[in-house]
This record gives sequence, C-alpha cells and structure tokens, in this order.
Amino acid sequence: MLYNAAIEEGANPEVWTNSNIEIMCSQQKRLGLSYDWDRVLWSHQKSYYKFDQWFFLKMYERGLAYRQESYVNWCPKCATVLANEQASGGRCWRCNTVVDIKLQQTWFLKIREYADQLLKGLETLEWPENVKTMQRKLNQCLFGI
Ligand SMILES: [Zn+2]
Repeated sequence: MLYNAAIEEGANPEVWTNSNIEIMCSQQKRLGLSYDWDRVLWSHQKSYYKFDQWFFLKMYERGLAYRQESYVNWCPKCATVLANEQASGGRCWRCNTVVDIKLQQTWFLKIREYADQLLKGLETLEWPENVKTMQRKLNQCLFGI
C-alpha cells in the first residue's frame, strides 16, 4: 500500500517507506511508548521478507502452494489487486475508481492440509481452556471442523 502511495507522490517506494517509518517511530518515542526498539521488524526489508519467500518456496515444493484462475478485484488506476474490504461498494478504497472484476492466475495456499493435525496438537498445549475454545471455533469457521 505504501508502494502505491509512493508512486502517487513520485517518490522512491523504499525511501518513502523508510521516511514514514522514521517519522512514525519518532512520534511514538515522543509519546513515551515503551517498545523494545532493538526488536522491531520491518516487513519491507530483505532481511525480513527473504524468510517469507523461503517459507513460500518450501510450501510450493511440498505442493501446498498452487496457482489457478480466480476472480479478483482490480483497480485499473492503481494497477493492483484489492482485497474485498478494499473494494467496498465496488470502488477502490484509495482512489475511488470503479473496480473491475477480472479473471486472473492467482496463488493459493492449501491451509486446510494441516487443520486436523493443528487441532489435535491443540490438546497437548498447556493453554487456558478459553484460548483453546477460541482456537477450536476459529478452526470451525475456517475449515468447517
Ligand atoms: Zn485505485
């Protein structure tokens, strides 16, 4: 999202993002928020996203990531796919352009593959029962189990 904002401003996306982060951190420090600033992660930096890419490749190698055609919300002005909540009312949340519904090759993850195993593993955890109940209900919503 910051990428498109940077393009709109005619700025380099990395410079734009780092500048915004610096401003945000400065404001939060002035407010006295007590984060451990040595343990902060930035998802746009290679040192972080290389692990996302590695993880995705491992899922692909194991047949857990696959492509197929699917309908997506497409903003022709931003030239990007939008999540349903970003295309509320049929318009792009950023630029208010009417969103197209487009058939496109899309990546999917087989999130159901380990649902049963995760549910069984939940019983072995020493978590509060209300937390386990919430997790079971989430599984019911996501996977119907
Ligand atoms: Zn847009």
